Amino acid sequence: MLFTSLRVQQRGVRWPLPQNGRTCDLQVHVQRTLTNSSRLYSRTPHHSIPCAHPKHDIRQCSLQTSAKFRYRTPNPFSSSISSGYCTHRHHPFAMSSTFTPPVSVDNNQYRLPTNLKPKHYDVTIKTDLEKLTFQGLVKINLDVVAGTSAITLNTSGLDLTKASLTSNALSGEQALEVSTFDKTQERTTFQLSRNLPAGSTAELKIGYSGELTGSMMGYYKSAYEVDGKTKHYALTQFEPTAARRTFPCWDEPLLKATFAITMISREGTVNLSNMQSISEEPLNPGVNTSSDFEEIVASTKNEKWKITKFDTTPPMSSYIVALANGDFEYLESSVEMPLSKKTIPLRIYATKDHIHQAQFALDVKVAVLPLYEKIFDVEYPLPKLDTLVASDFDAGAMENWGLITGRTSVFLLDPERGDLKAKKRVATVQSHEVAHMWFGNITTMEWWNYLYLNEGFATLMGEVIVPDRVWPEWRVNSEFITDHLNRAFSLDAKLSSHPIEVDCPDANHINEIFDALSYSKAASVLRMLSAYIGEDTFLKGVSIYLKKRLFGNSVTTDLWEGISTSSGRNITELMENWITKIGFPVLSVTEDDKGIFVRQDRFLETGAAEDKENETIWNVPLGIVTDKDGKRFVDHSPLLSERATHINLDTSKPFKLNAGTSGVYRVLYTPERLAVIATEAAKEHSIFSLDDKLGLVHDSFALAKAGLAKVSSALTLVDLWKNEKEYLVWSGIGESIAALNSTFWESPETVDDLNALRRTLFSPLVKQLGYDYPAKESPDTRLLRTLAISQAASAKDEGVIAEIQSRFKHFVETGDNSKIPADLQRAIFSTAVKHGGRSEWEAMVKLHDKPKTPQEKIAAIVSLCATQDDGLIKETFEFIEKKARDQDVFYFFAGLAANFKARRALTDYFHQNYDALYKRFEGNFSLHYLVTYSSDYYSSTKDLKKIEDFFKDKDSSKYKLALAQALDGIRARAAFVDRSKEDLKEWLAKRA
Ligand SMILES: [Zn+2]
Repeated sequence: MLFTSLRVQQRGVRWPLPQNGRTCDLQVHVQRTLTNSSRLYSRTPHHSIPCAHPKHDIRQCSLQTSAKFRYRTPNPFSSSISSGYCTHRHHPFAMSSTFTPPVSVDNNQYRLPTNLKPKHYDVTIKTDLEKLTFQGLVKINLDVVAGTSAITLNTSGLDLTKASLTSNALSGEQALEVSTFDKTQERTTFQLSRNLPAGSTAELKIGYSGELTGSMMGYYKSAYEVDGKTKHYALTQFEPTAARRTFPCWDEPLLKATFAITMISREGTVNLSNMQSISEEPLNPGVNTSSDFEEIVASTKNEKWKITKFDTTPPMSSYIVALANGDFEYLESSVEMPLSKKTIPLRIYATKDHIHQAQFALDVKVAVLPLYEKIFDVEYPLPKLDTLVASDFDAGAMENWGLITGRTSVFLLDPERGDLKAKKRVATVQSHEVAHMWFGNITTMEWWNYLYLNEGFATLMGEVIVPDRVWPEWRVNSEFITDHLNRAFSLDAKLSSHPIEVDCPDANHINEIFDALSYSKAASVLRMLSAYIGEDTFLKGVSIYLKKRLFGNSVTTDLWEGISTSSGRNITELMENWITKIGFPVLSVTEDDKGIFVRQDRFLETGAAEDKENETIWNVPLGIVTDKDGKRFVDHSPLLSERATHINLDTSKPFKLNAGTSGVYRVLYTPERLAVIATEAAKEHSIFSLDDKLGLVHDSFALAKAGLAKVSSALTLVDLWKNEKEYLVWSGIGESIAALNSTFWESPETVDDLNALRRTLFSPLVKQLGYDYPAKESPDTRLLRTLAISQAASAKDEGVIAEIQSRFKHFVETGDNSKIPADLQRAIFSTAVKHGGRSEWEAMVKLHDKPKTPQEKIAAIVSLCATQDDGLIKETFEFIEKKARDQDVFYFFAGLAANFKARRALTDYFHQNYDALYKRFEGNFSLHYLVTYSSDYYSSTKDLKKIEDFFKDKDSSKYKLALAQALDGIRARAAFVDRSKEDLKEWLAKRA
């Protein structure tokens, strides 16, 4: 899954990617960690577990001495990797021998009982897009692993109409009654009159109905307009725990099964699922439906319906099953796969109003799908790969196997007016989701604590390694430093962060760990490993890992074992602390006449870590860059694996650590050394690379924020680089100064001085680059122009504002947008509203209601939120209530949070409307964002108390990580302001 992002400039940080933190009590966490599977497993290689025999009864395993422990045992159901075919419909998918059921009789109340294992689901769903309801019948083939007289599985929001059981150990079909429904755990239990013996098989049949709600979870409705009329289609979003809202199931990633989906729908609509359809014909009750379906098809009399049957899937987890029904159109292409030599049809589906903007996302699939097959050396196992573009979508995109789904802003690009950022976004999101077809879908994390195995990999493979091969000119590896590494740092520098591999027992916790740590930090740590051992070796290890876990599940050590094999090193030991410990280190570098001392301590944004928070020793690849005969030389071999060490080095020449900023750590040099490095880096042919410079910018500001260096020294470094040519360095500088501005937002004098500084840096770039975007210039020049104009406008450069206003006026008066380059759309609209009045604001309302592209709509939302007029701010809140789509509300919050004038009003609005907003977004990912965006900008202890007081009596279980992170953020800013305001003031005064 992937989330959407929105960078709002004034704020200086990237909104609203997940940036949650951990709040659970440290002691509880440590205790849990000690009893956690991975830890036990990582110290006990599975080949040494005594119950390795395939017939060994897992419940008698000698290691199972404590019910608290959950660990890997070999699959008792399948004995050999090459044993071939799963039984149902003889599907040719080899089952891995490493299927690992959770050990039964576990007291873990959050996991389903494991006495029954689902093997195959037959799911039939009738979708009625007029009544906005669905009816279903699910038949589940079960293996009875341990004798039981109760069947417990997940259901939520479904009305169960009938249930029955057929067993090879009991005679006849038995009707079942629901004996209990646990609303919190979303579980239904059927009590049986007789015991199902171990080793037997059974078929559970359940009929049910449900509503297509607008919740963006389970099977839900999405709205669009045709000729002024609202129409609906239906699609699914299951990850992490919403498959149970569409059909009763064992809704846990470990419990893989095959799925055969049948869809009944009104004639003229399109049915989509994971696999290709094997038949589609008019519905003829009794002829192409069995007696089981009487109830379902009864209502179709005298109307035209159809029935579509889809082929059976490979063994898969329930959260990547998908369905959709609606009036969709499609674009199609195909690609020959390098390994299988099969031709795979690729389609992208959208409603009629959107399909003309879907070509680029399709082109991306054509470019990347074969690359993944080649890199992983594992065949793409499905016969097709579709993408469906949805108008209502909670996250950004979702990797359902064979049927990727996502919101319009991540998949649509206007061929005439696509801006470069939007283009990159479409490419990286589509590529990220395609990476999941292997990572996550073929091989799936055993439980949600290993979510990062899915997301860290999809981020690194899908957003860096593969795009870098297709679009090298985009320099995605360098962009990663700002977009992911720095974002991971900013969350992980908080006390309320959590380890990448995090305990997450229940559904509330699962939603919260889709955060910057599972995505960005996990990807950063993997990128560091890849740089340390070399990308080819790294990818070879990944391929070994995937092949070993085909159609199975995995835990962290499985991956490390694969990379250990390819590299010949003990990767498990090397990576252990990066995955299982909270935080990351700052390296302090001091010098003597023989070389350097390097010491590691945990980095916290609030200042030096106390001893109890500073116990972890990481294995840190030092990546030392030195000058060898005037040329750049990198020694990747030194590894710091103790608290401190001394390294011999000629310090009379320039050097720096963390080559290419591939390491997950910050580096603190003495002021004298930093000055030498900065001077060297400013040279035209420096031994320090673009990536080195990006790291230096971000480190300097972060170290200043933490009080380990002065903010004036970070600004001095920026001043030294004012002739910089690289977009990415400017982007890092712009973001860092905007963040300072945002921190000191209630000190008008400081804001004015910082704006003056920004003008001296960015206005000359605007003069140099102008406002036009020639077709043949480099991507970085385009982006630099957009950045410079946005920064200068935000810093109140009067000339730039006047130019923007005149372009906007022409657009509003004539409807001609030729003076509004797509790349400048957001900057022009929001500047015009910020410095305008009602007519500018109303122009944005119009644009919001009838946008030509998804990017235009987001630009309109951000611009509505930029108004400085109190009355219009109030009307913006009304707009959120009456007109905004649920999926867009967090954009409004992000936009208002970036507007200093609206911040206090936003907090008040959120607090006054808390109950209604909670109800509207309960269960959605958006809820976390609303909590963060309505508070995470204050810089004083007084405001900290105000926020704490508000949440004191609230049930924060669904967003407690986000809240803890926001509160930590306020604490850090308050301390930073106290510590730095004089230093900052003095530096700015001196420079002026
Ligand atoms: Zn993902």
